[in-house]
Amino acid sequence: MVLGGKRALITGATSGIGLSIAEEIAKQGADIVLSGFGTVIEIEALKQRLHEHYGVYVIHIAADLSIGEQCRMLAEQAQRELGSIDILINNAGIQHVAPVDQFPKEQWDAVLAVNLSAAFHLIASLLPSMRRKRYGRIINIASVHGLVGSVNKAAYVAAKHGLVGLTKVTALETAGSGVTCNAICPGWVLTPLVEAQILQRMEEGHISRESAEQRLLSDKQPSGEFVLPAQVGALAAFLCSDAAANITGASLPIDGAWTAQ
Ligand code: NAD
Repeated sequence: MVLGGKRALITGATSGIGLSIAEEIAKQGADIVLSGFGTVIEIEALKQRLHEHYGVYVIHIAADLSIGEQCRMLAEQAQRELGSIDILINNAGIQHVAPVDQFPKEQWDAVLAVNLSAAFHLIASLLPSMRRKRYGRIINIASVHGLVGSVNKAAYVAAKHGLVGLTKVTALETAGSGVTCNAICPGWVLTPLVEAQILQRMEEGHISRESAEQRLLSDKQPSGEFVLPAQVGALAAFLCSDAAANITGASLPIDGAWTAQ
């Protein structure tokens, strides 16, 4: 229970990678503020499961992170309800796939808002109290697309490169203060976000699910396997531990050698 007594705010915690991060951090004993969309029934079941399995206090705060004011409100409410926040996981993200010259402006704005600006608003809101406590862990879930590009992902690649830049600046500004800031850069992880891209490939290529998954992986990820959400969760939990106190400003790939090429 290395995170006993700590309090974590995790965005996008109702699905995919964020859900696994919430699980791994709760397992280490931290109380949890969940942020993310979902039905009342799904969110209640998730809160109850985390509380019953790990004995931690869990709340959910509703916020649309595409809106700056709602990000600020989420941070304020989380601090009010839990006293303070020690761990911030900026994980919420969306994708839209289209060539740059046909990229819808609304989708550009939305991807930049959720994947990049929300992290800025939350870091800016929560950093002062982390500095006062001389402890803080900020983890930005970027992507391999924070390090390299791919066709048809202009907004996502721009946002994730921006998030890696924000990580570096935050790490420099907090160095030696007890606060660390790192980015995790996953390759393909099988979640609803990637599910949509598999379905698109099946439809466009008139191919089976198995072929679509294989092509998706063989295009980019030499391991030929999806990264598991729990593996990203375990890395996030490690970055919160004392053992990781001197890892800051890093962008850590977990990508089956995608970015080694
Ligand atoms: P997902 O679609 O399963 O989950 C996304 C989460 O973000 C959900 O909880 C959703 O409710 C929340 N969210 C989306 N828009 C929101 C908004 N406007 N306001 C509040 N919450 C919002 O996606 P995932 O695959 O688990 O992705 C999580 C993160 O990991 C994203 O930042 C994504 O870019 C990144 N990532 C994913 C992969 C992958 O292969 N799945 C790879 C690299 C990076």
